[in-house]
Amino acid sequence: MDKEAEEKYLLAGKIAAEVREESRSWLKVGKPLLELAEQIEGAIRSKGAEPAFPVNLSLNEISAHYTPPKNDETKIADKDMVKIDIGVHVDGYIADTAYTVSFNEEKQHIVEAVKEALDEAVKMCKPGAMVADISARIEDTIKKHNCNPVRNLTGHGLDRYTEHAEPEIPNVKNNSSYVLKEDQVLAIEPFATDGEGAVKDTETVFIFMIHERKPVRSVDARKIMNFASVFSGLPFAERWIPLPLFNTRMALRELSQRGAVYEYPVLKEKSGGKVAQYEHTVIVRDEPLITTK
Ligand code: MN
Ligand code: MN
Repeated sequence: MDKEAEEKYLLAGKIAAEVREESRSWLKVGKPLLELAEQIEGAIRSKGAEPAFPVNLSLNEISAHYTPPKNDETKIADKDMVKIDIGVHVDGYIADTAYTVSFNEEKQHIVEAVKEALDEAVKMCKPGAMVADISARIEDTIKKHNCNPVRNLTGHGLDRYTEHAEPEIPNVKNNSSYVLKEDQVLAIEPFATDGEGAVKDTETVFIFMIHERKPVRSVDARKIMNFASVFSGLPFAERWIPLPLFNTRMALRELSQRGAVYEYPVLKEKSGGKVAQYEHTVIVRDEPLITTK
């Protein structure tokens, strides 16, 4: 990795970690998710970086990909489990980090499970390490806390302007023969639940990504394509689009039907279990370099 790339990965990581730690004091019962999202994304921008994706604020059995829409009225409620997943990029170099707060003490073991699984996994991110061994460590650590790992959510590689690159890092045992290489950038993200341990898509989508430039009919759809081109292939929020909500939703539907945008549906734990997530970005080295520490 050249020096400039490393410096930008480290800067993105530092900003993501700062915003993550600052955001802890903003989380309270009664807090509107919309306000929290704007605070977090605003903090990223005020530090001179950009969100690498809309902040994900997923409650309880919602596992990922929930970012509040413009008209969101959701507030954090007593006993909620709140996952905060923050992406920051500096010139396309991404940091991806997440944490979970449980306002229900009885579910705290799920949070402890992913926290410990993440600590164990990042220590293993050295050149020559096998993905399969990291996955096994994550699963075993989560099970020790009497929870289930979520089997269809994975960690992933990161690349410039690419949120999901090779390899996938499953949170359950597998027979991957993938071997880590020096300087690879990885997002390790264990998910655990007191449910069955799988997520499914919902009908709801608030996060999108440009897939391909295709000819589109409506003026609004063209406006969205132009607006979203500044994200250079990174995901964006419906909420960020400067058009009335009705027009935005019609145009996004057209774009997605034409295959011009890719949708990230809100994901939900299949059996309705509470889901916790922790995440760090790490550069594979003999001494693993956690950019989001
Ligand atoms: Mn993330
Ligand atoms: Mn991630």
